[in-house]
Amino acid sequence: EIYVLRLGHRPGRDKRVTTHVGLVARSFGANGIVIGDVVDESVARSLRKVVDLWGGPFEVIMGVNSVEYVKKWKSRGIVVHLTMYGLHVDNVIDEIRGSGKDLLVVVGAEKVPRIFYELADYNVAIGHQPHSEVAALAVFLDRYYKGEELHRKFSGAKLTVVPTPRGKKVLRIGDRESRERGAQGGQAR
Ligand code: SAM
Repeated sequence: EIYVLRLGHRPGRDKRVTTHVGLVARSFGANGIVIGDVVDESVARSLRKVVDLWGGPFEVIMGVNSVEYVKKWKSRGIVVHLTMYGLHVDNVIDEIRGSGKDLLVVVGAEKVPRIFYELADYNVAIGHQPHSEVAALAVFLDRYYKGEELHRKFSGAKLTVVPTPRGKKVLRIGDRESRERGAQGGQAR
């Protein structure tokens, strides 16, 4: 399993970026997002709405003590902190994947406290230029799963996209039983 720990979220100000961290976590194959040290119901609501419509499994956890969470995770699996100052992703991704262990992927907002660099099993750079937690997470997960995550099916989805060269086609999947059978309902607009 992979969980993403979002550090330094400022309610209000970071709503959009943290929601995007969650959306990327879910759609690129993580099992949940943990928003450290604060509770922000508006972010949780946005993410749960997406899970309700587009499927899961994906868990939203908030308000845990981040340092304690990371320390506890280390008895279950490994901790990867994404930072431009770390080791290049190409040099460590095979070792991380090969461990076969549960992963906690830590991303920051503003300055990340030193303790996380020390607690992490790996400080991993997605290149050594400053960019974004959203981009860093997407590239990390994509490298970890070698692109296979983009073909994953989500369970319990009410909506699913029918790929088209132009326009938008979405199937609405009716009741739970038809969802479980993988049957397709009427067409949504
Ligand atoms: N200046 C801050 C610092 O030194 O901790 C980082 C700010 S950056 C906008 C927010 C987050 O994006 C970082 O905490 C890190 O998780 C991620 N990030 C940005 N660039 C990265 C890179 N090149 N490699 C890995 N992660 C990166």
